[in-house]
Amino acid sequence: MADRPLRVAVVGSGPAGFYAADALLKSEEPLCEVDLVERLPTPWGLVRLGVAPDHPNIKAVSRAFERIASREGFRFLGNVEVGKDVSHGELVGLYDAVLYAVGAQTDRRMGIPGEDLPGSWPATAFVAWYNGHPDFQHLEFDLAGERAVVVGAGNVALDVARMLALTHEELAATDTTDPAIEAIANAGIREILLLARRGPAQAAFTTPELQELGELAGGDVAVDPADLVLDPASEAALAADTPIARRNVDVLNEYGLREPAGKERLVRLRFCVSPVAILGDGKVEAVEIERNRLVADERGRIRPEPTGEREVIPCGIVFRSVGYRGVAVPGAPFDESSGTMPSDGGRVLGAPGVYCAGWIKRGPSGVIGTNKKDATETVELLLEDARAGVLPQPSDALIDELLAERGVDVVSYAGWEAIDALERSRGEAQGRPRVKLCSWDELLAAARM
Ligand code: NAP
Repeated sequence: MADRPLRVAVVGSGPAGFYAADALLKSEEPLCEVDLVERLPTPWGLVRLGVAPDHPNIKAVSRAFERIASREGFRFLGNVEVGKDVSHGELVGLYDAVLYAVGAQTDRRMGIPGEDLPGSWPATAFVAWYNGHPDFQHLEFDLAGERAVVVGAGNVALDVARMLALTHEELAATDTTDPAIEAIANAGIREILLLARRGPAQAAFTTPELQELGELAGGDVAVDPADLVLDPASEAALAADTPIARRNVDVLNEYGLREPAGKERLVRLRFCVSPVAILGDGKVEAVEIERNRLVADERGRIRPEPTGEREVIPCGIVFRSVGYRGVAVPGAPFDESSGTMPSDGGRVLGAPGVYCAGWIKRGPSGVIGTNKKDATETVELLLEDARAGVLPQPSDALIDELLAERGVDVVSYAGWEAIDALERSRGEAQGRPRVKLCSWDELLAAARM
């Protein structure tokens, strides 16, 4: 092994990237140095730009990331895009190992007519917009219509439905961007309709998030009890070891008994319905849905099967929240069918010295903590390869020289700390955790301070 610490580039500074950096920097044999390469001037990935702003407790995991960043051997290289400022091949030639933790940066498609009509949005774009992602601030969401439809039964769908139902007062205490607070609080929306293609026992919600829907200051929650009658296959599945599904069904049954209290907005959940078309003349005016029956396939998985019974539901906007999807890093191996990097436990196939962790490794599933185990497992393989002496030999060149030659305005960790301090001080004056800088110009200017 070389007579110096192992130099590793971790690409992507969300939870998987930070947990990978942590595991690397804890290694004693070999000692490691980590350059955390990030496209944005800001770290933390979805913790900053995906987690709902009214979930400060979840966002507080960033404190653990700050501790990791303070370890010796850690550097943040923000505003550096792999594939543009530096290529995958160059990174591989500069470091002992490269570990991708780039997440899943686009949305899954539903593949139905009208999906791209104006007013039909991927939920991921709305989430990035209200969270202040600098690439999404130009978007204009027309929230004037009385009904908004959210497709999907996962936690992102719940986030979107809940955010749309928050009051001005609730939003004003968060780091939601000011334009988003005004747009949501002044929206004409009266009903937020969440559509699940399977039944209550198959929803991908986690229970605390589902419970929050029942505790909104400005929103009632409603479910038709007829939607909650379980088919025999779901009954049997619930009787097996599925505690989350059972708790979800209990919460939903309680919602089914509620009478709306007449709050300003109503969140309605419907089950066993699939959108088959998004309708409208030049923009979204309605969603056509079809009722499903549930059938167990040969492997026991409960699937939706269309019944032919259709219905048209007028609405002004649609948020498609049917899951994220990974995007290829130019030049690096990628499996189009799964939207992930093909790997054996995190060792990228056919690319010695290249590893992956988080959503780009296993797909967009699990909660933030899931990435700790995932990233640690990948790092164990990387360290094993380093100890075995099978990592390719890098050149002696440093990325700093290459980026300087190309005039890349790298944001260091100190640069991020300047952004962070400015955002927090702006927030303090308003009793908010922070007021985010939302444009590239503002972010880069603050980083230079
Ligand atoms: P998800 O949990 O995978 O949920 C996706 C939903 O979309 C599922 O209900 C799925 O239904 C449905 N779906 C997929 N294709 C569909 C189609 N063609 N038509 C209709 N429905 C369709 O994904 P997510 O909500 O994007 O969340 C991603 C991950 O982040 C999850 O692990 C989630 O728990 C996590 N997350 C956690 C939090 C939190 O802890 N507070 C917040 C946000 C996200 P089927 O089950 O039938 O496929």
